[in-house]
Amino acid sequence: FFDASDAASRAWPRVDIDANPYKASFPLFSEHPGIAFLDSAATAQRPACVLDAQKRFYETMNANPLRGLYSLSIEATEAISSVRRQIAALIGAVDEKGAPRANEVVFTRNTSESLNLVARSFAPTVLEPGDEVAITIMEHHSNLIPWQQACRAAGATLVYLRPTKTGELTDEEIAAKIGPKTKIVAATQVSNVLGVRVPVEKLARAVHAQGGYMVVDAAQSVPHMPVDVRELGADFLAFSAHKALGPMGVGVLWGKLELLEAADPFLTGGEMIDSVTESGAVWAPVPEKFEAGTQDAAGIYATGVALDYLANQVGYEAIRSREAALVHYAMSRLVELPWIDILGSIYWDRHHGVISFNVRGIHPHDVASILDMHNVCIRAGHHCAQPLLAWLECENLACCRASLAFYNDRADVDAFIDGLQSVWSTFH
Ligand code: PLP
Repeated sequence: FFDASDAASRAWPRVDIDANPYKASFPLFSEHPGIAFLDSAATAQRPACVLDAQKRFYETMNANPLRGLYSLSIEATEAISSVRRQIAALIGAVDEKGAPRANEVVFTRNTSESLNLVARSFAPTVLEPGDEVAITIMEHHSNLIPWQQACRAAGATLVYLRPTKTGELTDEEIAAKIGPKTKIVAATQVSNVLGVRVPVEKLARAVHAQGGYMVVDAAQSVPHMPVDVRELGADFLAFSAHKALGPMGVGVLWGKLELLEAADPFLTGGEMIDSVTESGAVWAPVPEKFEAGTQDAAGIYATGVALDYLANQVGYEAIRSREAALVHYAMSRLVELPWIDILGSIYWDRHHGVISFNVRGIHPHDVASILDMHNVCIRAGHHCAQPLLAWLECENLACCRASLAFYNDRADVDAFIDGLQSVWSTFH
């Protein structure tokens, strides 16, 4: 289960996964002692500091941001602005002097809304009949259906980049699919099914060479690794707070200022205008132009606390090494079970927190239900990636997915493997 040609993949981090310095910070684990939560790719658990922050907002600074001229409302507005700056700095959206380009950060409800915004408001400014949009077959439906719709509306063609069955996008495939007609490439940075890292940088170089634009779905990367829009070559990048320890209902869209300025508003109404007359309206500047209506200010404030906890208090280096050790251990146990079929690569280091698999001859829903009886939470179904499961010829268009986070430990993986043994013996 390691790539023998790659020495680095054999050298897994020697992290003590028996010890767990993190679990105590997550109230849910005290409420549910012994639970093995292996579904963080769907939504993460939240540390107490994030839950406290949301409450603190309502207790100490609650007012409708942007609307008031009194100090409480100004404080609420400043709370949001400071998270905008923090996120810009976190993802490398900074100017030549290193100052965060905060007005390039738009708050939405989630990754899905961010990607819809790009497909609905930006894509029509560049797509013409006969153009192509390229996405990978590994996309979550959130980064797939909006492009089907955008192509249909513009008379453009949607082209699929297909990886090998182990999830590798080859240079030949990239060269074959990204050409003079390609105006937009949209790709996930990490697949929510295969866990594989997609070479977004290569895709960006290829589409930029054609004068096109790169859209990155970072929903599954921000929780696990440092993300830098300059290194990726992104023109737009989307992620959800709830997968990165933050609250549900807050999403982020980063986009280059000139591209956001060129795009029409996505939703209209309050907060997004400079002026309105009976016959029309003048839009507010970016980012307010894209933020119609009252924002989840408490959620945005708590998102700032979540991202600080993730990137600074735990730190991406600790996250990377601990998750790698957990994935390595889980893979080493799974490959011992001859009736487990891993989706994608069996090399542990190709999996960024996510391992999808099937138990031979047993429906994934049965697997998940029996594991639940053992207090183990995994995901089963199509994972909002039906074209990928069809491409992988997955029976019933379904599979099981275990996803790990730094707050898991060896006991969680052991409970998972014991549960799988029980699944097998229930049917045999
Ligand atoms: N993109 C990827 C890769 C995902 O894994 C998910 C959620 O699972 C999404 C997009 C959609 O995220 P949300 O439901 O927060 O909009």
